[in-house]
Formats: sequence, C-alpha cells, structure tokens
Amino acid sequence: MIPETINHAGANGEENPLLEVIDLKTWFPIKRGLFSIGAGNVRAVDGVSFTINRNETLGLVGESGCGKTTLGRTLLQLEKASGGEILFNGVSIPSLGRREMNRLRRHIQVIFQDPLSSLNPRMNVMDIVTEGLVQFGMIEGSRQEHAARLLQEVGLGRDAIHRWPHEFSGGQRQRISIARALSLKPDLIICDEAVSALDVSVQAQVINLLLKLQESHRLSYLFISHDVSVVSNIADRVAVMYLGQIVEIGNAADIIGNPMHPYTRVLIAAVPVAGGKRIDAHIVRGEAPSPASPPEGCRFHPRCPEVMAHCKQMPPPVTTLENGRMVMCHLYG
Ligand code: SF4
Repeated sequence: MIPETINHAGANGEENPLLEVIDLKTWFPIKRGLFSIGAGNVRAVDGVSFTINRNETLGLVGESGCGKTTLGRTLLQLEKASGGEILFNGVSIPSLGRREMNRLRRHIQVIFQDPLSSLNPRMNVMDIVTEGLVQFGMIEGSRQEHAARLLQEVGLGRDAIHRWPHEFSGGQRQRISIARALSLKPDLIICDEAVSALDVSVQAQVINLLLKLQESHRLSYLFISHDVSVVSNIADRVAVMYLGQIVEIGNAADIIGNPMHPYTRVLIAAVPVAGGKRIDAHIVRGEAPSPASPPEGCRFHPRCPEVMAHCKQMPPPVTTLENGRMVMCHLYG
C-alpha cells in the first residue's frame, strides 16, 4: 500500500534512502524476420544500483544514448524493468499494481527537456498547473488561488494564469513545468535534461530556482544531463553512466575534482572553460558501441586511453572507496 504521506524515518529513527535502485535492468528485445524471432536484447540499463536520500540531488551524467533517460523512465514505470528492484521509501515499485502505481505517481514527478511538447497547448496555465491537484482530489478552495501560489513559487506572476504555453519563453515554460511538478507536493523529481534546451544564463536561473525549492520543500532530485558542468552546479553526488552501467559514483566535489574512471576524466576534460576547452589530451575517441552488443571485458575498452590487455577480456571489478565512492575499473581493482 502507498501511504498518503510518506514517513521517511526507519525503525531506529534514522532516515532510509528515499529511493533505492538495486541491479536494475531494462532490456529491449530485438525481433527479426517474418516470425519476429528474438535476436538478442538492447541492454539500455544493465545492472544499475544507487540510492537517493531525502533532500539530496543525484546527478546522472553520460553521453546521449548511454541509457540515462531509459533509467529515468523505468523509475517512473514508463518502461518495464527486465530485472532488479526499485524501492521507493521501502515500497517495491515494479511489484505495484496499476492503481497503487497511480497513487505513487504523486510522490515522483518529472520535468522533461522540452516544456513546449510536455505542456498541453490547449490548456491554459491555470489548468496545466492544477490538473494533478484536481485528479488527486487535492483542491481546497479556489483553483485560481492554487495556481497563483504555485506560479509565485516559481517566479511567475498571477497574470500568467489565463495565458497559454506558446506565449512564454523557454525558461518561463520550464518554470510552468516546475510549478506543475510541485503542485502534488512530491518527494522526488526526475529532471530529465531539464535545462539542456535553455541558454546558459536561463539555465543558471532555473537551477537556482530548483535549489531554492529543494530547500523549502525538502525535495530530492535525480538530475539527468549529458553536461557535467550543469550537473556540478546542482548535484550533491554524481553517477557516471556508460553503455547501460554506472562506472563511477561519489560526492560531486570528489568526482569533479578528482575523477578516477577514465571515462569520467574524459567527460570532465571536455567541459568548456573560459577561453576554450579545459584539456584536449583526453577527448573521448570513437563512437560509443551499440548497447545491443557491448564489448567483452570492460565496455569502455575500445575508447579508453588507459586500456590494458586484460581490460579486453575481463569485466572490471567494482571497487568501493571511502565516502561511498565506487568505481568500476581494472586500474583500481
Ligand atoms: Fe580503461 Fe581498463 Fe579501466 Fe576499462 S577497465 S576504463 S579499459 S583502464
């Protein structure tokens, strides 16, 4: 059963992780021929584990196609997990029925990259930001007042209530998406490339807004982005994803200041700084292999600047270091 309000304290009074993902897999079968015979699987998410605590932001970074969006969709049950477990405050999400999952959706909201396509063009802003409240029977008093309060929280005026999505700039539309997500008093918001389509200055404003709302509402975020520099501005911890797996995870300051996995180093080396690229010695080479046929051994070995002979045959060990840092690489095994 999903409680209406979530109690985060465990039996010993300590907080449990809000979200616990254990060995999660999302595979898509490849069908070929007239009889749709199975020809393997696209392993979009392939054995991923992490936690998100209350009031914490986990940044999830990686190149496009690495599986991070599929991971977010699996958490929301928009894709079916092929294996593993997702515990939300101790409740197993994959084992929920439709009705219970619908009740849980109030606690996990999402903000997508493109607000124009995620906001219904035939609804005005008041209807958009209060639709969920009506659906969940959470309206008390005037719908207009609810909308005005939500818009004020995201820095928009009351005059926005009766306007339409196309009348706003990209940044304002994303604020409307945030107000909609906030309306149901969620515990976790999945931000899927939520600022990627915005100008750098607007990105900063939206990130500051997300940080402010996190503080006032004790929100947790899974912040998915291909851009390490954006993630470094908001995340408490960072997970680096490559070809369906998390290859490094740890405190943001540790990961950004001292990346250990060669792929993390490549990503951080490619972060633009004033005056050009920070380092150009480690730019990732080649295309990422297909998740339908990942390379033997370490999946990063065809592109790794530090590849060793055994990397091509043996999967790298997972090494756990202090502060909960984890790295999956033969350099540390
Ligand atoms: Fe590179 Fe080997 Fe580490 Fe893979 S295991 S990232 S190939 S050094």
